[in-house]
Amino acid sequence: MKVKRYKKVNKNLRFFINNYGFRQPYQILTDGTFCYSALNNKINIADNIPRYLHGEIKVLTTQCAIIEMENLGSKLNGALKILKQYGVHKCGHEGKPISAAKCFLKMLGNSNENHYVIATQDRDLQNKVRTIPGVPLLYLHLKTPVLEKPSDVSLNDAKKKISILGESEKRELEELKKQSHIDDKPKRRKRKGPNPLSCKKKKSKPTINNPITKKEPVEKSKRKRIKIPKHVREMLLKTNEEK
Ligand SMILES: [Zn+2]
Repeated sequence: MKVKRYKKVNKNLRFFINNYGFRQPYQILTDGTFCYSALNNKINIADNIPRYLHGEIKVLTTQCAIIEMENLGSKLNGALKILKQYGVHKCGHEGKPISAAKCFLKMLGNSNENHYVIATQDRDLQNKVRTIPGVPLLYLHLKTPVLEKPSDVSLNDAKKKISILGESEKRELEELKKQSHIDDKPKRRKRKGPNPLSCKKKKSKPTINNPITKKEPVEKSKRKRIKIPKHVREMLLKTNEEK
């Protein structure tokens, strides 16, 4: 895997490790659409995903997801076979199966307490998963697995938590936001000149561009985060399709 791509995966994964307590083996809650796509693209989930995430995984599904695939007919037998290999987590719908999407959302609840990573190609489910904080989303882009960057809901939620946490986590979140272009804060303080306090010791070094001084306004002002508009999200989805 290319180093650049690994860094990106690692960064996204670390967000969930640091802010939501994800640990190995990562629990990959998988539906039939993901298996179907894996089969079509000749991806071996148990082989490729751990390599991609650089960590151990446990692939899981639910009875509802299996029954849904069974009901879709013999065309999906291959994918069904793959899905049936995985551990079946109790979802509480035994005897009264619901759709895989609804089932997974129930499994996630409001806060994804069990630290599931959702693996699905179902666009609708993906969109809903993005509205729950702390849920990593995994999908296949042809032959390439993609662990999506944290949704803005996750970023905002983590920021709230971080406001009572340490400085290092704060910096990490800022960096993630810069990456995802959420932080549209105009650059301020540039013309104010160096911080007089930090200049006393080292007069020779100007501190105008010191990244530390730039970060100061963030903790002072409790700005309301701007939600990414719906059309942007749709655009992102479209980009995926085009690729
Ligand atoms: Zn279920």
